[in-house]
Amino acid sequence: MLYDTFGRKIEYLRLSVTDRCDFRCFYCLPKGYKGFSPPDSWLAVEEIERLMRVFSELGIDKVRITGGEPLVRKDLPEIVRRIGRLPKIQDLSLSTNASQLARHAQSLKANGVSRINVSLDTLNRARFRDITQGDLDQVLAGLMAAKDTGLHPIKINMVVMKGINDHEITDMVQFCLKHDFTLRFIETMPVGVTGKGATDRFLSLHQVREQLESVYQLEPAAMRGAGPASYVRVKDTRLRIGFITPLSQHFCETCNRVRLSVEGTLYLCLGKHDNMEFRPLLRKGISDELLKEKVLEAIARKPERHEFREKPGEIVRVMALTGG
Ligand code: SAM
Ligand code: SF4
Repeated sequence: MLYDTFGRKIEYLRLSVTDRCDFRCFYCLPKGYKGFSPPDSWLAVEEIERLMRVFSELGIDKVRITGGEPLVRKDLPEIVRRIGRLPKIQDLSLSTNASQLARHAQSLKANGVSRINVSLDTLNRARFRDITQGDLDQVLAGLMAAKDTGLHPIKINMVVMKGINDHEITDMVQFCLKHDFTLRFIETMPVGVTGKGATDRFLSLHQVREQLESVYQLEPAAMRGAGPASYVRVKDTRLRIGFITPLSQHFCETCNRVRLSVEGTLYLCLGKHDNMEFRPLLRKGISDELLKEKVLEAIARKPERHEFREKPGEIVRVMALTGG
């Protein structure tokens, strides 16, 4: 098992398989963004498989494939297949914008992805285009395909932004109730190209919760693998709602995760620079034994907590590279 120097058990790895994306969410990869990493610096399928095997032998048993948009990487089906057959990986999931999910849902399920998270900030077509530059209908088609395939739970991630989509909270609740999706609200974080994300639109989720409580009766709820989200259930329904509050109430003391970038750099905290580069080690022919020592050395670098509030703008690094 892997423990960091603060006694936290590290069992979860987020794997960014690409920093490319077919969307341009303004808080993540704004229009005109040119800083993508060149393909020869991406980890190859074999390198990903090897690293995932080594991590899993040390105690990582949950992997979430993310990006960028993972479904734009051409060899994603092979990556999923190879991770899905690693014996020590118990839980393989994927985060996606769902634009291409309609044609991938079945093979993802068949190759071991059990559950997915889908970004969806609005149900309004024009606003969706404004936020993402993408097509809402394509995303909805992807979501319905995933539901039909039996991927469960399907969690909707909504970044709530003041004056942009904060009036759509109850619409999203109704949408998730109708389709049996789980809903998670997320506070915008100061990361990305400018180091600011959409923080000028920041809205504390305390306000969202108050808004919900004026309409619905909420009761505390548990959720398997809840991670940083604290959950409630809408009384007399199956709908669970999660609140992810990296700013208004950080959850670093229970952080169990690390992030591997598309270039093979392990980031120990989304809000800090501490990292270790694995790609040069792999390409120099490091043994499994030494690789394991390097993983332990990296985990020991995991900082206690982010400082998004104290030092906003410190992380000028797109979420797509590290894997949000
Ligand atoms: N493309 C996939 C998607 O959108 O779900 C996976 C990668 S995306 C970087 C992962 C998550 O990061 C999304 O839910 C997105 O909303 C979130 N995200 C990106 N930039 C953010 C920011 N500045 N603040 C809060 N969440 C952010
Ligand atoms: Fe793409 Fe996801 Fe970032 Fe939006 S949040 S630009 S969909 S990677």
